[in-house]
Amino acid sequence: MNFDSYTDCGIEVAVELVNSDSREDGDLLPDVAALRALLQRHAVSGVGRLTAQELGEVRALRTRLRSIFEAGDDAEAAQLINELLVESRALPQLSSHDGEPWHLHYTSRDAPIALRLAAEAAMGLAAVLRVGGGERMSTCADDRCRDVFVDASRNRSRRFCSDTCANRNNVAAHRARRRAQATSV
Ligand SMILES: [Zn+2]
Ligand SMILES: [Zn+2]
Repeated sequence: MNFDSYTDCGIEVAVELVNSDSREDGDLLPDVAALRALLQRHAVSGVGRLTAQELGEVRALRTRLRSIFEAGDDAEAAQLINELLVESRALPQLSSHDGEPWHLHYTSRDAPIALRLAAEAAMGLAAVLRVGGGERMSTCADDRCRDVFVDASRNRSRRFCSDTCANRNNVAAHRARRRAQATSV
């Protein structure tokens, strides 16, 4: 799947937000400073002072984004994405600030940060659903993990969020096979 870099940004924001509520590592968005760092990593422009209330709104958003990854089918995922687009009042506008090439902003820079992120993330996930289908929005197959990912593999074969989860499951499967062989002799 090939999107432009700005669409990729929306997808990455969605994935990082959902995974900031981690089963293994706890809450990776514990305070306003962590939210500011996340916004900087994703080059979100024009961020002013952040409040505890805004942090709460972003935390609520990640729960809703997770439900898109966990949706039972494309129709359900589409409905959840559409709800976010309506609520964030996404209105595409071309922009070329700070010497960047022309790209789309979906909300104004003075909109509340949770709505800006909601619009970016929803547009990114909308592109995934449209181009690749909702099945590409997946949850890690490792029981200890619940991180989500977008499967961009050609044959939609990816099962784990990361190499870490893939490797430890390969190791576990290998050990289980060896145990099975040992007991069957
Ligand atoms: Zn921009
Ligand atoms: Zn994982």
